[in-house]
Amino acid sequence: MILVSACLLGENCRYDGSNALQEELSILLEGREIKMICPEVAGGLGIPRPPAEISGGDGHDVLRRRAEVISEDGARLTDFFVSGAKEVLKGLDFEDIEFAILKARSPSCGKGEIYNGSFNGELRKGPGVTAAYLQDKGIEVFSEEEIDKIRIKLRE
Ligand code: SF4
Repeated sequence: MILVSACLLGENCRYDGSNALQEELSILLEGREIKMICPEVAGGLGIPRPPAEISGGDGHDVLRRRAEVISEDGARLTDFFVSGAKEVLKGLDFEDIEFAILKARSPSCGKGEIYNGSFNGELRKGPGVTAAYLQDKGIEVFSEEEIDKIRIKLRE
């Protein structure tokens, strides 16, 4: 089973009610066992919802309660993001999970870099909350921007 950010497969679950469909990725994944996940919705946030960023660290720091997820209008959303990360793995057997493909730069799903908490478009290194949680559980995470690596992985 491959975990995939639902917005990458056309689900309108982004903060503004849009999706981030990656047609090349959807075609590549045809015939594979997929579990679509949207941790922000799984954690109890609605669609649409205010944009959010991690302030003071990355997803690992949020999981360790050393940083907060804050919405653009100033609400503390850390608990929603942490419970959403846990929710996506609930009931799944880790043995069945091959790897995950998560949306780049999201405060939940981002892998290598995320927005820095200033809402000014600047990035910092580090994963979002769910990407960090999956990595902590030993699950390999790719972003949709690593399509060549995903191709290789699918051939293994
Ligand atoms: S990036 Fe992740 S949390 Fe955000 S809409 Fe897509 S699946 Fe949901």
